[in-house]
Amino acid sequence: MSATDLNCSFCGRPKPETQLLIAGLDAHICDRCIIQAHGIVQEETAEEAINEVDLELKPPKEIKSFLDQYVIGQEASKRVLSVAVYNHYKRLMQVPSKEEVEIQKSNVLLVGPTGTGKTLLAQTIARYLNVPIAIVDATVLTEAGYVGEDVESILSRLLQAADYDLTRAQRGIVFIDEIDKIARKSDNPSITRDVSGEGVQQALLKLLEGTVVNVPPKGGRKHPDQKFIEVDTSNILFIAGGAFDGIDAHISKRLNLQAIGYKTAQEQRHVQKENLLQYITPKDVRSFGLIPEIIGRLPVLTYMNSLDKDTLLQIMTVPKNALTKQYARLFEMDGIDLQFTAGALEFMVDKALTFNLGARGLRSLCEAVLNDAMFELPDSDVKKLKVTKQYVDQKLSKVEWPQLKAVS
Ligand code: ADP
Repeated sequence: MSATDLNCSFCGRPKPETQLLIAGLDAHICDRCIIQAHGIVQEETAEEAINEVDLELKPPKEIKSFLDQYVIGQEASKRVLSVAVYNHYKRLMQVPSKEEVEIQKSNVLLVGPTGTGKTLLAQTIARYLNVPIAIVDATVLTEAGYVGEDVESILSRLLQAADYDLTRAQRGIVFIDEIDKIARKSDNPSITRDVSGEGVQQALLKLLEGTVVNVPPKGGRKHPDQKFIEVDTSNILFIAGGAFDGIDAHISKRLNLQAIGYKTAQEQRHVQKENLLQYITPKDVRSFGLIPEIIGRLPVLTYMNSLDKDTLLQIMTVPKNALTKQYARLFEMDGIDLQFTAGALEFMVDKALTFNLGARGLRSLCEAVLNDAMFELPDSDVKKLKVTKQYVDQKLSKVEWPQLKAVS
C-alpha cells in the first residue's frame, strides 16, 4: 500500500486531504480528529472538576460559621442564606433526567437598610464557594431599547468576573442591589410604559428563572472572533437586596389587619414594634410594588437588622478583615504598633451613629482620624501610636461632616 492510500481510521479522510496523519499500531489519526478529540477531553475533565467542587460542599452550619468570620450579627439572614446556598448547590448536583422531583431555584431576597451587610453577605458566600460574583445596581437597568443597560449586561459582568470561563460563570452568583428601586410606583398598573420599573422587573423574570441568553462579551479578549456567548442562567444563584424604605408601614398594616379576628391581644403584645422587618412576608414586598412573578422567583425572603452601637463596635474589631486590623497591618508595615483604646472606638462609633454614617462611614472616619499619622509617621522615629478618645476628637474636629458622608 502506498502512503497516499492511507486513511484516517476515525473520519475516513484519505491522507492527501489531511494536514497530518499520525500512525498508531494498527490505525491512523488525522489532525482534525486530534483537535476534536482534544476538545472532548478538555470538556470532560472540566466537568469532572466542577463535580468535585460540588461534592465538597459543606452543610449549612459550616457555611454559616464561614459567614460569621466576616459578617457580624444578622443571625437570621445568615442562617436562611446558608440553607438557601446549600439547597442551591444540592440542586445543581442532581442529574435532571434521572430525578423525578425538580427542585426549584433558591434565589434570595434580602430586605434591610443600606449599609447593614447585604452586599457583604453575597460577597462572602461567593468567596466561600469560590465562584465569580457580579454586583449590579438595579437602578441602571432598563428595558431593552431604552437608554441604560439591558438586563443582559448583568451576565456580561458575571462573565468578566469569571475571566470569561463560561462554565464558572454559569455557576456564579449575581447580586442585584436596590431591587426596591424598580418597584411599581403605584398599585394601579398604568397603560403608559414604566421604563424604570415594571418593564425591568419583567425583563429580569426570565433571567432569574433560568434561560439561555446571548451575551455580548464586551472586551472579551479571549474570544476575539466570537460575537455572542450563550449563557445559561439556570444554575446562577441570584441574590437581590434592597432597603425597601417604608415597608414597615405595609408590615404593620398587615399585622394589625390580621389581628382582627385572628390574633388575641396577648399575641399582639409580642410584636416588637421597633423591628417590624422580622415579620416580613412576600405579601408585604408585593404591596410595596414588586410584581408577584418576581417575588415568586426570589422564593427565599429574609431581612437585615439595622446596626446598633454594639454591632458597629464589633464590626470595627472582630471580622477577619476588620478595619482596625487592616490599619494595624498598614502601620505594622512601617514598623509602627497601632492601637485603639476602647474609648476611642466607642467615640468613633457614636459619631457614626449621630451622623447616620452607618457601617460604611466607619471607614471614612478611620481615614479622617489616621490620615495625619499615615502621612507623618512612615519616615519618622515613632514606633507606636495609641489612638485615644482625645486623639480622635482632635482629628475629627478638623473635618467637615458632609466630607465624611461623601467618602462613605
Ligand atoms: P448593604 O449592601 O446592605 O448596603 P454593605 O454590605 O455594602 O451594605 O456594607 C457596607 C460595608 O459596611 C461593608 O463592606 C462592611 O465593611 C460593613 N458592614 C456592614 N454590615 C456589616 C456586618 N453586619 N458585619 C460586618 N461588616 C459590615
